[in-house]
Amino acid sequence: MGEFELIERFFKQPAKAQPPSRTVALGIGDDCALLQPESGMQIAISSDMLVEGRHFFPEVAPASLGHKALAVNLSDLAAMGAEPLGFTLALALPAERARDEQWLEAFSGGLLALAETHRCPLIGGDTTAGPLNLCITVFGQLPAGQALRRDGARVNDDIWVSGTLGDARLALGALRGEWGLPADVLPLARQRLERPTPRLALGLGLRGIASACADVSDGLAGDLGHILKASAVGACLDAAAAAHLTAAGACPSLAGASFDSDALRRIALTGGDDYELVFTAPASARAAVLSAGARADTLVTRIGRIEVSPGLRLMEADGRSAPLAARAFDHFA
Ligand code: ADP
Ligand code: MG
Repeated sequence: MGEFELIERFFKQPAKAQPPSRTVALGIGDDCALLQPESGMQIAISSDMLVEGRHFFPEVAPASLGHKALAVNLSDLAAMGAEPLGFTLALALPAERARDEQWLEAFSGGLLALAETHRCPLIGGDTTAGPLNLCITVFGQLPAGQALRRDGARVNDDIWVSGTLGDARLALGALRGEWGLPADVLPLARQRLERPTPRLALGLGLRGIASACADVSDGLAGDLGHILKASAVGACLDAAAAAHLTAAGACPSLAGASFDSDALRRIALTGGDDYELVFTAPASARAAVLSAGARADTLVTRIGRIEVSPGLRLMEADGRSAPLAARAFDHFA
């Protein structure tokens, strides 16, 4: 199978996957795709690369890999409050994978199913032989001036997170052999690691409500740290709230596996690969945040407050607070 047949067979999508707007004027097949932004809209663009051995295990199910490659990119659009328009896929495939029709079918199946769910068609890309490497660039739109940027957090704003945090890190540790997980917890945690849910509906619903927003890809402390730095503020998180952020923590079997609330709190705060949103909003917007969460069918939890004093702190139930390193995962550190 040649390069062109491969694209034709596995990556061309039916028209029903197109966004409702007429923004994609031309998709796969020409030298460029063409986007026609609606008037008054800005185009949001983000790229994420997934490298075998670094971002995923070689034996990961191809359908999950396809899902995750797009999900992590859609998560960036969500964090900006943008609505998806389309994406490109630059793909390096080892020769044996390019011959493996089952693998290709499952990979493109996982990828294009999520694309269809979010009306975000594949509009172009590049295909080459090489070590397995996936780079997706996603395009979205939002009304000019309404992006949820990282630099808008203000002193006394509440800090919120969506969904649950830390479960992907629990699964990663189990797969790497760092610890064991009970049989009823592993599948749940693994689902979070391998098939993250981009919070697009919530991101859209937070336009005009959130003062700053980022997605949690490298751990809450680190990604909130980016907001703090961009906004030139500090923050204090509530330790009690942070101890209940993992979904796995609700499984009684986990306590027996020597994960106490301290350990779960640490994993929730620093884990990574969650693809949830961390955002700030004025206290006067609490009801609006909760109703945006309800409309998006997404749990939102208030976990702390923005402060003048720089840095990130964790406050215990007795009122004492201790510094928390606001450091994100760094590939070269
Ligand atoms: P070029 O010669 O300009 O690199 P190609 O021959 O690689 O163009 O690609 C032909 C068409 O197929 C283009 O429209 C390109 O966007 C599309 N395409 C190539 N690889 C992929 C891919 N992995 N996914 C989606 N579209 C692709
Ligand atoms: Mg090419």
